[in-house]
Amino acid sequence: MIKLKGIAAASGISIGPAYKVGREEFIVPRQEVEEREIPLQIQLFEEALIKTRREIIDLQKKIGAEMGQDEAEIFDAHLLVLEDRMLIEEVISRLKKEHLSVAFIFSEVIKKYIEVFSKIEDEYLKERIADINDVGKRILRHLLGKTRTVLSDLKEKVIIVAHDLSPSETAAMHKQNVSAFVTDIGGKTSHTAIMAKALEIPAVVGVEEATVKIKSGDTLIVDGGMGIVIVNPDEETLRNYQDEVERLRGIAEKFLLVKDLPAVTTDNHQVEIAANIEFPDEVPSVKLHGAEGIGLYRTEFFYMNRKDMPTEEEHYEAYKYVAEAMQPYSVIIRTLDLGGDKFLSQFQIPSDMEPFLGWRAIRFCLARPDIFKVQLRAILRASVYGNLRLMYPMISGIEELKQANQLLKEAKEELRSKGIPFNDDIQVGVMIEVPSAAMTADILAKEADFFSIGTNDLIQYSLAVDRVNEKVAYLYEPAHPAVLRLIKNIIDSAHQANIKAGMCGEMAGEPSFALILLGLGLDEFSMPPQVVPQIKYIVRAVSLGEAQRIAYDALKLSTGKEVEEFAQLKLREVIT
Ligand code: PEP
Ligand code: MG
Repeated sequence: MIKLKGIAAASGISIGPAYKVGREEFIVPRQEVEEREIPLQIQLFEEALIKTRREIIDLQKKIGAEMGQDEAEIFDAHLLVLEDRMLIEEVISRLKKEHLSVAFIFSEVIKKYIEVFSKIEDEYLKERIADINDVGKRILRHLLGKTRTVLSDLKEKVIIVAHDLSPSETAAMHKQNVSAFVTDIGGKTSHTAIMAKALEIPAVVGVEEATVKIKSGDTLIVDGGMGIVIVNPDEETLRNYQDEVERLRGIAEKFLLVKDLPAVTTDNHQVEIAANIEFPDEVPSVKLHGAEGIGLYRTEFFYMNRKDMPTEEEHYEAYKYVAEAMQPYSVIIRTLDLGGDKFLSQFQIPSDMEPFLGWRAIRFCLARPDIFKVQLRAILRASVYGNLRLMYPMISGIEELKQANQLLKEAKEELRSKGIPFNDDIQVGVMIEVPSAAMTADILAKEADFFSIGTNDLIQYSLAVDRVNEKVAYLYEPAHPAVLRLIKNIIDSAHQANIKAGMCGEMAGEPSFALILLGLGLDEFSMPPQVVPQIKYIVRAVSLGEAQRIAYDALKLSTGKEVEEFAQLKLREVIT
């Protein structure tokens, strides 16, 4: 059994055999043609363009009808590539000059385009490479007389494993027996990821060497929510996941019925169920799943995959959009949380011996107020467009909070002096994800408007377990008594100071822990949008009293395993 970690692109769990899709490159034999054949070659090229155009329009119609207009619009960019005069003229003029087959010339021109686009420092243009690639392959297939193969021939339900998938390949899966997919490369915003979400099949992208480590026929478990792929699982793991799939399937329909209802217990205690996002384009999914706001907007992705720094305007536009789109609900923007596993290419950040304990998050921001204040000003400016809040990551003690607030004050002054409006009363929260913060929550609560518990980090720091190291993954226990006690202390301290305690780590979206967290008094749960209906369902199924008893009993147990088993048992009792 091996466990591969990638980027969680579309949630859900799928178990099945792997099916590897080969990498199609632009390898076309160099073939000379005679002068008299040139008109024929031009005709061949024109026909290929027409066929490709027809193919794309058909696909676009199909996608539009089956998945919606937004997904279909991806193909507009493909049609634009097809109509690119420069590209067409370059192929024809080189054909006339070089006397080589149109397929060869076309593949050379496309390769050159891709090379040029790859060097441009612009995310949008970089994304177009996938479009050019996709259309290029289609045209080439027609030029070489090849028909589409692979995906349409699938007979059994499989998990596609590919180096990368083009949008049209992903779309072609729709009616096929594909239950998930895994790719070597790609990010959360890749078209492949967008399509997977629309298809509602799990996907994990950016799994380095997936195509090297996985063979066709291997049994895979794809956990799209966690970004995990397990290859040839042992019996126990397989059984656990099978149980989980069954359980999820059985109750999924019930969850959807409550997605737009408030998360209120049978004895009228209401909590807030919010969603975590990384990109503004996740807002529709947040709303679709009935989340009552955004409890964590991770902003690191602004800084990734680029050489320059995001401008204040870029930040501002994104925050303004999210704030307006989520009205009247609140949106919590988490300020830059770099470092650890969120590496950056453009900064010369010294590679610490232990990156998670090193120069990261608020530590980096306090050391680089020039960078930090750009973001703070943008958040403040956007705050007049909705219910925006902000929170700092990785606060380890009160001094850091005070320093960050001082910079926030300066950012406010800067705006004020220019007459730029902002919400002076913007709520400022603290992520509690370092044990020292958890233990001094009473002190921090005096200076904070709210808490949000970052269990992903809190667990790794309190249990000394690297959250990305699969060798120690067995020790990574959200329900470890130490973690539960810390969480209890954080929530109690918040309540004593009359502020709310939320949680935005993955634990908040794990059904088995929902009852315990509810019973401990958590006020807000923030999670991937897809789990929102389920957590709402659980909250609505119990009374606060019952949840409190469950939490109380859980706190008496001695190990994480015991707590987990107990929590699962109680959950089954509540939601059967
Ligand atoms: C966390 O640590 O729980 C958290 C929500 O932040 P991140 O996963 O981005 O570190
Ligand atoms: Mg964190």
